[in-house]
Amino acid sequence: MRNNALDLEKNLREEVDAYGLVDNIESCLQCGKCTGACPVARVSPSFNPRQIIRDILMGQKERWLDSEEIWRCFWCAGCYSLCPVGIHFPLLIMQVRYRALENCHGMRYAAIFKRFALRALKDGLTFAPGSPKGRERIMGLRGRLGLSPWPGISDKAREEYRALFDLTGTTSDLEGIPDNNEALVLKYLGGKITGA
Ligand code: SF4
Ligand code: SF4
Repeated sequence: MRNNALDLEKNLREEVDAYGLVDNIESCLQCGKCTGACPVARVSPSFNPRQIIRDILMGQKERWLDSEEIWRCFWCAGCYSLCPVGIHFPLLIMQVRYRALENCHGMRYAAIFKRFALRALKDGLTFAPGSPKGRERIMGLRGRLGLSPWPGISDKAREEYRALFDLTGTTSDLEGIPDNNEALVLKYLGGKITGA
């Protein structure tokens, strides 16, 4: 019985770290320095890197895959820089997100990312108000703050931006993100995650 439990725990760790990027997770001391250093945990106490690691080691996958918390990390790497045993939590949480997407969880968060990225691809800005009224309001605000009315993006800059998206495969990857809740199939090749 104990052997089976150990096998399950090992399998879960291997499942989450499917690309073998964080091979020292078992050396976690549960000291909590990662959580203490995390700016997200400071404003959102339900996000707890130490606890996520503990749960992965304990085999409690379902608790996180369908959670909103795993989408809060913004990869500042503050946790990694302070971890006494060098556990790369940002790479771990990246893989937790991929496992979530592969299991039909979290698509609503990926969809937000897709929307912003496609807007950046089109406008050269990650944020641009959709309506003329919204644009007018922001221009007014910027004017009152002494800023230029609206950041101008030249056609040349837009073309270069699009070329970067195309060359790195980002355009096709974004288009491959489904808008509904279908499972994504992902693979890791040469340092890059791609749709299968
Ligand atoms: S700082 Fe490192 S060792 Fe400490 S709990 Fe976080 S991951 Fe584990
Ligand atoms: S990389 Fe993520 S988990 Fe680590 S400190 Fe930054 S926001 Fe927190």
